[in-house]
Amino acid sequence: MFSKRIKIKDLLQSEAENQAVTVMGWVRSFRNNQFIALNDGSTNNNVQVVAELGKFDEQLLKRITPSASLKVTGLVIPSLGKGQKIEIKAEAIEVLGDSDPETYPLQLKNRPSLEYLREIAHLRFRTNTFGAVFRIRHTLAFAIHKFFNDKGFVYLHTPIITASDAEGAGEMFRVTTLPLENLPKNEDGSINFKEDFFGRSSNLTVSGQLEGELAATALGEIYTFGPTFRAENSNTPRHLAEFWMIEPEMAFYDLEDNMNLAEEFIKFLIRYTMEHNREDLLFLAQRLADEEKQLPQDKRSELGLMEKLDFVLNNAFERITYTEAIDILLQSPAYKKKKFQYPVEWGIDMQSEHERYLVEKHFKKPVIVTNYPAKIKAFYMRQNDDGKTVAAMDILAPGIGEIVGGSQREERLDRLEQRMKEMNVPSGELWWYLDTRRFGSVPHSGFGLGFERMVQFVTGMSNIRDAIPFPRTPKSVEF
Ligand code: ATP
Ligand code: MN
Repeated sequence: MFSKRIKIKDLLQSEAENQAVTVMGWVRSFRNNQFIALNDGSTNNNVQVVAELGKFDEQLLKRITPSASLKVTGLVIPSLGKGQKIEIKAEAIEVLGDSDPETYPLQLKNRPSLEYLREIAHLRFRTNTFGAVFRIRHTLAFAIHKFFNDKGFVYLHTPIITASDAEGAGEMFRVTTLPLENLPKNEDGSINFKEDFFGRSSNLTVSGQLEGELAATALGEIYTFGPTFRAENSNTPRHLAEFWMIEPEMAFYDLEDNMNLAEEFIKFLIRYTMEHNREDLLFLAQRLADEEKQLPQDKRSELGLMEKLDFVLNNAFERITYTEAIDILLQSPAYKKKKFQYPVEWGIDMQSEHERYLVEKHFKKPVIVTNYPAKIKAFYMRQNDDGKTVAAMDILAPGIGEIVGGSQREERLDRLEQRMKEMNVPSGELWWYLDTRRFGSVPHSGFGLGFERMVQFVTGMSNIRDAIPFPRTPKSVEF
């Protein structure tokens, strides 16, 4: 019986006039005891169901409340109302599930704030905003697989539980079955991990890169797309404790090949979403424009969401070296007027305010910064001939800051071992990683794109907590 339902998206696109149809969904609003706006999640657009006056029982009409679920059968007719071509003249209305208007926490009339919606994240799917965001998130995930599949990359599943913090990318979450109230100890008082599940200490992965390299140096081109975990205590609009990352890793790619792929990839994702989720994007663009009206003039973006995406598609990303970036910052009016909170000099790990200045004020487009000081980057990045910098590249995006971090990897065993020693990375534990450099080492490169930051960029949501269905952040793990 349920298979007979037509999705509202399909109905609104069809020419079903004068046909009998069955739709099911949740009530968004009920006006004049007559007009039901019904939504089933297939699109942001509701279908209008007309319950002719006098045709339905009063008791039934009382149960048509916000978010009640209905099954409606009726005739498709041309709509007299504005904003829709067709509507459904109801023949039968069945309430599948009641929704008590007294206790239902989502009153859509007075536009609930995004902060409030995070507290009821289990229900925020029922708003237009989050319907649009999560349909777009789906489209992006699909487009990621399409992009790499079309290029012949192999989708590789890297482990979620690992024993190495090879990268030192961030604080890690421990994985253990040891009893916390009674930990087995060694003679020196340290915890005896030999008794733990894996016989050694283990944690949730912060990145699949090192394992990705193992596969890339045999399969050629691979990508991962999975969850990563960082127990970093940074309460920012761009950090989550659990986030998804896409990490392509390619044999026979140098830094430039790497940058070209990353730029092509980001543009593909934007174009694909613009082609497949236009309505959702237009809705979010309007939402963002409304939100920005509340801001002081100088905090508003110059471009609307659609213009921003168009602009990114139609312009090459700026490519500069880290050294050039520092020079720009030192020459900037912001620096001269002491507007930066953090110091600027060669060797710093650029702060968000610096990245945003470069992207939003100076270049006004995405920027790829290359050749960072070796001291602030991970051990596996390829050393440049100047002895100071490595072949790293970060992509900085307007409104987001860093969206991609990548590099050409150090393929020379002696150089790699020397770097590991300098940075106190235990080479013994990484024997398997070093084997790729022992047996047929090749130049290779890769990068990591933070999935939620990409969702943020495309949807215009300013807080990363609104780009993932169930955000995990410090002190917050509800739902
Ligand atoms: P940041 O400086 O912003 O903390 P990072 O240098 O730690 O980033 P990488 O280790 O290079 O980032 O990770 C690759 C990508 O993963 C980043 O470019 C970003 O898009 C994303 N990312 C990193 N940390 C987080 C996080 N805590 N939450 C969401 N996305 C993240
Ligand atoms: Mn970080």
